[in-house]
Amino acid sequence: MVEKVKLTCPFCGKECVDVVFTPSFFQAHTSRSSASGSKTSFYKTKEKHEVQSGCSNCHKSAKEIQKAFEGGKKDPEKDKKIFERLKKQGLDFTTIKTKF
Ligand SMILES: [Zn+2]
Repeated sequence: MVEKVKLTCPFCGKECVDVVFTPSFFQAHTSRSSASGSKTSFYKTKEKHEVQSGCSNCHKSAKEIQKAFEGGKKDPEKDKKIFERLKKQGLDFTTIKTKF
């Protein structure tokens, strides 16, 4: 379910960042209401990226890198390059693109 990948550091451009990628999955959720009694429904969780370590090249912290991944939407060209790199690494592009 969970896979560990090396991603490109948004600061120095080297593949020095360890990220744990958790794909989305279905989770059961039981709800109660007076009209229909208890009901179990399933919902899909969001996939997520967790930066595990700082960059070993430029020494940015994991926190800074995580922030850059989540907030780095100002440069679409750069995003595209990250997607292409992920694709080359064999990750499913369609499940990952919403997080960047
Ligand atoms: Zn770096």
